[in-house]
Amino acid sequence: MRAGASPESIDAVLKRVEELGFRAHLSRGEERTIVGVIGDERPIDPEQFESLDSVERVVRILQPYKLASRDFRRERTIVNFGNIQIGGPGIVIIAGPCSVESRSQLLETAHAVKEAGAHALRGGAFKPRSSPYSFQGLGLEGLELLAEASEITGLPVITEVVSPTDVPTVGKYSAMFQIGTRNMANYALLHEVGRSGRPAMLKRGMSSTIQELLMAAEYILSNRNYDLVLCERGIRTFETATRFTMDINAVPLLNELTHLPVVVDPSHATGKASLVAAGSRAAIAAGADGLIVEVHPHPERALSDGAQSLRPEQFASLVRECRDIARAMGRGLYGAVS
Ligand code: PEP
Ligand code: MN
Repeated sequence: MRAGASPESIDAVLKRVEELGFRAHLSRGEERTIVGVIGDERPIDPEQFESLDSVERVVRILQPYKLASRDFRRERTIVNFGNIQIGGPGIVIIAGPCSVESRSQLLETAHAVKEAGAHALRGGAFKPRSSPYSFQGLGLEGLELLAEASEITGLPVITEVVSPTDVPTVGKYSAMFQIGTRNMANYALLHEVGRSGRPAMLKRGMSSTIQELLMAAEYILSNRNYDLVLCERGIRTFETATRFTMDINAVPLLNELTHLPVVVDPSHATGKASLVAAGSRAAIAAGADGLIVEVHPHPERALSDGAQSLRPEQFASLVRECRDIARAMGRGLYGAVS
């Protein structure tokens, strides 16, 4: 739209888009409003829109991901997550156990990560484990404990949702949905999370390309849910010395290709507690908007992912290091610079 286009003229364009059988998506920027015209592969005649008053120009978005692309939105998206924001100048640190195991384990961890400077709490209640014989999570009881921990500490909670039918329940107990690596291409789940209109973090499939990640994001965005954060969590390579390989390239590349915030999960990306701090520093130096880190008061007793879980004191030192790197990058931790 032309700069300063009136709300009425924008409405008229939206109406025209829908009349022609397309779906309209609105992106209001500081300087410019962009109307995304989404439909099937039918060719669109730019004339249909360019003849409208207040339309400045029609641009074809060449990438297959349209709403995730920077052409649709020039400004970076800031995602609300409970009382905090991801994607602004402040770097957000999310921490907590891989799995919620008990009330005492969760509360002890929640207090410790808050004390160390974490901005949000993570914890899995529904665990998609590689083996059906491994601990599968506490389910609903785990969700209730997460909500209680959030209430007590004031930290917003993110937890994984693994099935489309669980979306309403998980949404009731948490401020952000986590879509795990094994579900990145679960399109029924992506649609349902999109339809919920609630904030979500989409983790990259462990064998997925950046383009596949952005196309998965598109499923959520196409439901007009733009509160979406992407997460690089390590990919499969020939290397077996670490659990996965952190694709650090993904961070600056995603920052070029998309307006969505990008966080890194150094815990799953390395699989090894001793490597998590270095991975975290690298992620922030590469331009990540945040981290999601596994912390456990007794990693040796953890029911999942103990080898990559930090003890609270290790996490506290990681936060201090990240603060320094964030400053060096002209940013800061969330709260200090918001
Ligand atoms: C997790 O965060 O504990 C998890 C299972 O992550 P991912 O889906 O990346 O393996
Ligand atoms: Mn885990």
